[in-house]
Amino acid sequence: MKIRRLFAAGAILVLLWGMTPLVSANPYAVFVVHCEPKNADPASFLQLRDMVVKADQHQVKLTIDFTPQWAEMILEHPVFSDLVTNWHEAGHELGAHHHPYWVSKTRGTNWDGYTNTPQENLLGSDGENYLGDMDDYLALLNELPGTRTSGTLGLGEPPDAIDWPQDLLYSAAGHAFEDIVSRPQKVEYAGHVVWQMKHGLLSNGLPEQVENAYAAAVPGDIVAVVTHVSNYEDFPQAVENYFAFLGSQDPSGNTLVTVTEAMNLAVPEPSTIWLALLVGWMLIGRHRRQRRA
Ligand SMILES: [Zn+2]
Ligand SMILES: [Zn+2]
Repeated sequence: MKIRRLFAAGAILVLLWGMTPLVSANPYAVFVVHCEPKNADPASFLQLRDMVVKADQHQVKLTIDFTPQWAEMILEHPVFSDLVTNWHEAGHELGAHHHPYWVSKTRGTNWDGYTNTPQENLLGSDGENYLGDMDDYLALLNELPGTRTSGTLGLGEPPDAIDWPQDLLYSAAGHAFEDIVSRPQKVEYAGHVVWQMKHGLLSNGLPEQVENAYAAAVPGDIVAVVTHVSNYEDFPQAVENYFAFLGSQDPSGNTLVTVTEAMNLAVPEPSTIWLALLVGWMLIGRHRRQRRA
């Protein structure tokens, strides 16, 4: 009996430990890179490679969100594919980035050619630039190493909500400075309930402001910044300085994580909590029965 009770107590401890997976004074730090349709070219790829090398020097894990234009370029060049495979194997996340159709109409961004809006409903001659629906989109991105689990889909206009690819688990959104610190929240895209975190553009704050936001964050918070490859090209030192800052805050690198890792750790798991409670009740019940006997 004693052994069984010890076993049950051990099980509870393991479950509780599972609910607080990272006992650390640091928040989770996430660094996202958006790879835009308009600069899917070899020169920009080399800039991205440079960024990965610098991130590696400071234990920073990047989440590299590719648009379909980047995926096609990478798949066409074996040298690029090999490098991207290395990044994936080194623990950087290869995520998804989308420039939806209706957002491009209202904000003048470059549509990436994929949408779940039927081709015949596109305005003017836009149907000529149609490349496929969002199943085609995700199939193309999944030709890159691994499987896509997170993305910045940019579904800012209501008619774009139907573009959420149902096989993606996690969403990242935002660009404002206030978006740098967040916790996972449930959002809904045309009936798909998705866990979403925020990220803020690194250059929307002065370096001290971003570092202060990190310092003010508590364990369990996600401190996430985003840059575009072109931002890095313009200010490589600002990005490298932030990598160095993160590396100095957590030399172990344990809390320097990807979007999917941060979300796996930070999304509350009700099933685990219920399981722990259930084991607790069983223990109390057994304890009472023993006292009565
Ligand atoms: Zn962006
Ligand atoms: Zn973008």
